[in-house]
Amino acid sequence: MNVVLMGPPGAGKGTQAEIIRQHYSIPVIATGDMFREAVSQKTELGTKAKHYMDQGQLVPDEVTIGIVKERLAQPDCQDGFMLDGFPRTTPQAEALDQVLADTGRKIEAAINISVTEEVLIERIEGRVSCPDCKTIYHLNFNPASAEGICDECGASLTYRSDDRGDVAKKRLEVYLEQTLPLLEYYKEQGLLFNIDGNRPADEVFRDIKGILENL
Ligand code: ADP
Ligand code: AMP
Repeated sequence: MNVVLMGPPGAGKGTQAEIIRQHYSIPVIATGDMFREAVSQKTELGTKAKHYMDQGQLVPDEVTIGIVKERLAQPDCQDGFMLDGFPRTTPQAEALDQVLADTGRKIEAAINISVTEEVLIERIEGRVSCPDCKTIYHLNFNPASAEGICDECGASLTYRSDDRGDVAKKRLEVYLEQTLPLLEYYKEQGLLFNIDGNRPADEVFRDIKGILENL
């Protein structure tokens, strides 16, 4: 299955992507995670991306398309993949279609997790994650067993700096301006599936599973 997971920041894409990865054993390509890794490794890509991420802006299309293109060419993606947080602009979606067409593949579904703004803000404010194994928690909705410590690997949990104040607000604005219009792109192709994300993660997953099993 070749699927994209869409939705505003904090909708629960990363949470669902991890459940899907475990359930279906397909690679998850999360551009936000790739950029955060590059930032923490202080690579050239990380230096470039950090400038935009710190302001809540999107990393330029040519950079983002380049890293996804490279990742999709790897052998583990040939039998299916899930994209989390990509595409976020129309040029990204068009480039994705082109890259896949060049290798005889195509997107089979765009699953959009929609969540009210009130819930999004609650989720973003309480999000903590593991800097090592990337497990995502929420202070109230999905807390770690021992406060501040990752259940999976024991590392100290951290807040994302772009989940704070004005940067978080900017990311929501950028989503509405640049990414929301993309839903129409997939709707026109009959590939869009909307999911009510204002529910517990296992209920959201049940709906996603229903879609994936009918592809
Ligand atoms: P995204 O990848 O879309 O930005 P995340 O998966 O990181 O979103 O989720 C944002 C926050 O909301 C995290 O703290 C996560 O634990 C929490 N969360 C995700 N899905 C749900 C859900 N269905 N119900 C309650 N909290 C959730
Ligand atoms: P995320 O983890 O998906 O919330 O992404 C965190 C940040 O990484 C975003 O605010 C952007 O700055 C950058 N980013 C992630 N994915 C993309 C993308 N597809 N296009 C441009 N920038 C992205």
